[in-house]
Amino acid sequence: MAAYQLSSVQKTYKFSANPPVLDKIVFTIDHIHAGDHHLSSTYEVVKFLTDHGIPVTVFIQCTNPSNDYEFDRDNARLIYSLAPHLVTLGVHPLPKGHSQAQQRDALNIISRIIQDVTRRRPETLSYHGRSAGPMPGISFPGIKFARGVHHAWATNTDNPLDTLVMPLVSVSRAYTYVHERNNAGLSATLFVHSKELRHGSRQRRVFDTLLRDIMQGRLQALAYQQAMQQDFHRGSVPTITTQPTATGVMRLSALTKQGQRPVPVNLSIKQRDGSYTASASNTTSRQFSLPVGKYRVSAKTGRITETKDLTLTATQGIHHIFLMPV
Ligand SMILES: [Zn+2]
Repeated sequence: MAAYQLSSVQKTYKFSANPPVLDKIVFTIDHIHAGDHHLSSTYEVVKFLTDHGIPVTVFIQCTNPSNDYEFDRDNARLIYSLAPHLVTLGVHPLPKGHSQAQQRDALNIISRIIQDVTRRRPETLSYHGRSAGPMPGISFPGIKFARGVHHAWATNTDNPLDTLVMPLVSVSRAYTYVHERNNAGLSATLFVHSKELRHGSRQRRVFDTLLRDIMQGRLQALAYQQAMQQDFHRGSVPTITTQPTATGVMRLSALTKQGQRPVPVNLSIKQRDGSYTASASNTTSRQFSLPVGKYRVSAKTGRITETKDLTLTATQGIHHIFLMPV
């Protein structure tokens, strides 16, 4: 199977609505698709994202009723186990035209699979189809946020059960959208099927450009649910903030104390209760998406180590700059 690789991209994101906090972007993928010789599978795309610390939501559907959906359960488990703190599984319901009873049955089956895999009921959903969105007479109990397909928006008109996605027609159009959304204090959601990420496709160009921007510290990636909680000002609801997998974004950078020039360091991140660690070597700046909590972080170069205690929450990103006395 083809491992996902970044194609070469030209443009870089040049905006920032509230510096030093980076503009927010969300990755969501619809369906689990197998790849082929030239096309990475959904698994490989998710692996690439999580290998780079980028959270992603994958909306799974039931495709295989034989043997009690074992195939779907295995796929969901494989993808989730890549990085349980970064991968969220959401529900992909039946297409428009099905009855409430049929939709409810599908929701129950997918919810059971997701609960088996993640120990948690799903709260996010992605409608299926071209004019996807809420359907009259159809409700999905337990679902808090649902991904729609619309791009057009105005401040204060967002609907948690029909959330917006960015246009993928071109990099500049996507950039403008991300910039305008963040200027209004909102995130921008990228929504894609992994099979659209063939070499040379416009979706691939936008996807890879935004990925590169995140990896090089020009944009920050948030989990879909976390971003929606912030967009809809629900970040302070206690049942959400106490969830064990809530994540936050921490950027660590290093400058020389004299002259404030970027200096490469080895970064180390340890959660105070010992449950999570991360590191990066020989870097001047790196963004991490981490479970919320109290951390001790350090930067080391040669014999010099600088240490700092930080508390990471889901609602506000941290950018800590080490000033190295070198
Ligand atoms: Zn679909």
